[in-house]
Amino acid sequence: MKYFLALIITSFLFVGCNDVSSQNSATNVEIDRDQLLRDIQILSSDYFEGRKPDTRGGFIAQGYVIGRFAGIGLNRISDTYTQPFQTVNQRTNEEFNHAANVIGYIEGTENPDHYIVVTAHFDHLGTSNGDIFNGADDNASGVGGMFAAAEWFINNPPSTSLLFIGFDAEEQGLRGARYFIENPVVPLESIVMNVNLDMISLNTENRIYAVGTYHYPFLKPLVENATADAPIDVLFGHDSPDLPPGEDWTMSSDHGPFHSVGIPFIYFGVEDHPHYHTPTDIFENITPEFYYNATKTIIETIREFDSQTEVIKEASGRF
Ligand SMILES: [Zn+2]
Repeated sequence: MKYFLALIITSFLFVGCNDVSSQNSATNVEIDRDQLLRDIQILSSDYFEGRKPDTRGGFIAQGYVIGRFAGIGLNRISDTYTQPFQTVNQRTNEEFNHAANVIGYIEGTENPDHYIVVTAHFDHLGTSNGDIFNGADDNASGVGGMFAAAEWFINNPPSTSLLFIGFDAEEQGLRGARYFIENPVVPLESIVMNVNLDMISLNTENRIYAVGTYHYPFLKPLVENATADAPIDVLFGHDSPDLPPGEDWTMSSDHGPFHSVGIPFIYFGVEDHPHYHTPTDIFENITPEFYYNATKTIIETIREFDSQTEVIKEASGRF
């Protein structure tokens, strides 16, 4: 198994070697468009068998995230990038004994002891009745976006430390994020906020939601400032308890456990679409230009959060 994993990781490392940058005048952030699309295409390929924890495809997905973190040059918290855990789906009672979050960081130049945590879950639903649930938008897209952000900040060092986490077992009830909050690798008191990416590649109306400002209104002007010239529309909402069931996304993805302990969050995601949690959530059905622009917009927003860390710390009342 170890040899197999090493082989997988080594073969994927070459995927990361590409320094051709794309440019868009609407934003200062430049990212490698081909690499972004390659990451989502690979992670959502049949080879990964739907990336369910404790399956062959799930292990390959873990290995891919480790390989990309290493290739990008993220630091490890310990001697490994992984945070292994065992968990149970509280709804189905299904057990997972070999789940693992993948964690790397970039040290901040001015606030090395505080962290903005950028997250995206790499697991998905696996297979059912011979159908592979490839999970291109959900959430190979967020993972690819997270890689692009990591790469960008390696080249443009942040002032506050950035912790990047590929969460496992999100589809089993946010298990990876809950495990991290219960077993944090850095003190929870040092986490300034969470930026979660889940489903950022498929929208025909050029719209993405920045969820969380209902709970943390001081983040809204920062998001507005960062996205004023964005090539896509950034909408607010989906975070009020007054909304009909299912429309409040406060606990719908891995930002939920952060919010549960009072850590501010912004969650970037699109409206549900017909491919959501079906075997047709495949690479061919994403909207590549939107994905590219959404990723750049998210990086621009993280950059704003980084430059306004003191404002966020003050306003959150946690420091
Ligand atoms: Zn998801």
